Amino acid sequence: MPEETYPSLRILPSALAETQEELPFVAIVRNRDEFCRWLRNPPPGLRWIQVEGMSGDSEAWAEAAHTDSHIPLDVVLSDPASEFSDLYRLVDACGAREVRVTVRGAPGLAKAVRLATALRLPVRILPAQPAAEVLEELHDALEFYLHEPMVETPVEFFHSLLATMSGADAGSLWTILEEDPEAFQLFDTDGRARLPRTSLSGPVTTASAGFVETHLNSLIAQDAECATCAWQQQCRGYFKWPDPLYSCEGIKRLFSSIQMAGNEIRKELADIAAADGDRISNPGGDAV
Ligand code: SF4
Repeated sequence: MPEETYPSLRILPSALAETQEELPFVAIVRNRDEFCRWLRNPPPGLRWIQVEGMSGDSEAWAEAAHTDSHIPLDVVLSDPASEFSDLYRLVDACGAREVRVTVRGAPGLAKAVRLATALRLPVRILPAQPAAEVLEELHDALEFYLHEPMVETPVEFFHSLLATMSGADAGSLWTILEEDPEAFQLFDTDGRARLPRTSLSGPVTTASAGFVETHLNSLIAQDAECATCAWQQQCRGYFKWPDPLYSCEGIKRLFSSIQMAGNEIRKELADIAAADGDRISNPGGDAV
């Protein structure tokens, strides 16, 4: 989540997280008791709390606003259409700690992004394999992010993809969205490592796993759409997981829109640099 990077960060249900102590981990909480436990007594390894299904719990947010620890929160909206208006309840908590909003790829996504950014909260959109109506909302959210002047906080994955397409090294979508199992190990309630967005067991060791590259190479070997996709470098087959037959037509249009915005930004920056260069080489201008 924040600026720090977390090699092999464990993301665990609250009950399992009790054994982590100094190992870096994220605790997933689904009720107020779990939430308050980590908020009041965070062990050294706790990086942030992932809050699920609690957006409407005003008492939990009051606790987050008044508890002394500064543990960041990642508030997950799994059903943004019904949960987005709960974001107003987070205002006081945001004054006490970092809060990010994670919006799953479901109807209501665009409204949630608009409200979260109006509240100056950073956003992570987890698009998964979006249906047609969610793709429309992704396009809306991108337009809003690119052109609404009041947006001051990053909206991922747009933000890092724009940076990547302008030459920065922000990694692939798997990394940007914290879903690469080599870096972000997700565990189920039985303590088994899980692959993202499935109930399939995932790699337990980090160094040798290579899940993303294995997945992409398998798609290329099967001559899937990824083999010739212009966005392969940034995507690494993200949208072909878990269903390799998902059609990326709409996703490619989204990538193109981000690329065009990146090109415009680069051109504007080049124009500004050229104008600055002119001023330095001729400080008096034509009037001299
Ligand atoms: S956009 Fe689709 S086709 Fe292109 S690399 Fe990603 S998953 Fe593969």
